[in-house]
Amino acid sequence: MDAASSRKQRSISTRCCIVGGGPAGMMLGYLLARAGVDVVVLEKHRDFFRDFRGDTVHPSTMQVMDELGLIDDFLKVPHDKLQKLDGYFGKTRLRIADISRTGAKYPFIAFMPQWDFLDFLREKGRRYPNFTLMMGTEATGLVRNGDMVIGVHATDGSGVFTIMADLTVGCDGRHSIIRASAGLEVEEIGAPMDVLWFRAGKSVETERILARIEAGKMMVTLDRGTYWQCAYVIPKGQYDAVKARGLESFRSDVVSLAPMLKPGVADVKTWDDVKLLTVAVNRLKQWTRPGLLCIGDAAHAMSPVGGVGVNIAVQDAVAAANCLAVKLEHGAVSEQDLVEVQRRREFPMRITQAMQVIVQNNIVSAALKPDNEPLKPPPFARIVNAVPWLQGLTARFLAVGVRPEHVRSKEVVPPEVRSPPCR
Ligand SMILES: Cc1cc2nc3c(=O)[nH]c(=O)nc-3n(C[C@H](O)[C@H](O)[C@H](O)COP(=O)(O)OP(=O)(O)OC[C@H]3O[C@@H](n4cnc5c(N)ncnc54)[C@H](O)[C@@H]3O)c2cc1C
Repeated sequence: MDAASSRKQRSISTRCCIVGGGPAGMMLGYLLARAGVDVVVLEKHRDFFRDFRGDTVHPSTMQVMDELGLIDDFLKVPHDKLQKLDGYFGKTRLRIADISRTGAKYPFIAFMPQWDFLDFLREKGRRYPNFTLMMGTEATGLVRNGDMVIGVHATDGSGVFTIMADLTVGCDGRHSIIRASAGLEVEEIGAPMDVLWFRAGKSVETERILARIEAGKMMVTLDRGTYWQCAYVIPKGQYDAVKARGLESFRSDVVSLAPMLKPGVADVKTWDDVKLLTVAVNRLKQWTRPGLLCIGDAAHAMSPVGGVGVNIAVQDAVAAANCLAVKLEHGAVSEQDLVEVQRRREFPMRITQAMQVIVQNNIVSAALKPDNEPLKPPPFARIVNAVPWLQGLTARFLAVGVRPEHVRSKEVVPPEVRSPPCR
């Protein structure tokens, strides 16, 4: 397909149109293109370079990269490895998971800026002539024929146009307009917190603590090499109250939790340096309509608890490609085929959300209570800390997940890739 010339006619046709170039959309786009399906991925931003994306690539995702033959190149992308997950509960340091005990082939979390992860998939996708990624292109609604979804309306810098597709996949995240346009019913589960996201400069410190929890305060620090990416957790809806107390008070709360950030937090000079990320936990009752499937956060918004959302989104993409690639290559898919994707992924997603909600309600909510009592570690965390094999169990749940997916969709190598032209 010649996207530029088609756009002049204000309409493009493709087999599968994926809305959203996050982990779910980019992985599905790659897998379908690899399987010989003509695919267009729309991403409303012009690049992937945004701070507020999860950075945690888990063993389940690396296993997928391995099965795709991409792991060697993937591990060349700069990343930081984490095997043992430790947290401070008040003044007590506890080990809550140890990935070296999971038996996973890649037994660590790779901390990789998500823009690098998505750029990697873009570069690999470019090998396939049937993979089209349209950056700076936003889907604004669905095109229908009766009950059937037959594409999307979209807009980019040069105007509005339509993309006609046998299948549309909503991968547009937790504020999905695709699921809203389809009228899919959302079951809200809720979260007691929001997150303030900011960078703090790094000096020489190397402390590898992920989570810090004290009475009334909670923060996660991610090591991004030259700076700390900090996620300061606040009670839901309290951003204005935090702001009203002033920037100095915010900075001193941060330092009281993580003294190592004292020099670096000076980088937070105005509230513009602090981004509010609202946390949602919800799920669709039905992920499909005729001609339409939602996956990733568009089907089930994940809490940041456990840093699993990116990996669950990747697992959804693998399952979707396994179920649909062959059928799509030869024509349209039935709604029953789409329902099969939901049937496959719903159980792992529900179990994971249930665990996230348990942590939210029992650890996050308790920690965020404005209470002057020193915080005591929850009994469960003490037990896990004391019993190493339990650290393997928690790690397995977090890092490998429930019923991990394996790549079954086949690579259909296009002639251009099979015999690259001599240069
Ligand atoms: C505060 C916070 C911190 C988190 N931290 C982590 C973490 O550390 N690790 C982890 O694994 N998970 C984390 N998560 C969860 C994780 O971010 C999500 O579960 C994951 O990103 C879902 O991937 P996705 O591809 O489904 O959606 P997204 O990552 O949200 O991607 C959706 C994409 O669609 C694009 N888009 C949206 N609308 C349109 C449109 N109309 N047209 C075209 N493009 C569109 C967006 O720009 C975006 O690129 C966190 C969540 C929150 C709220």
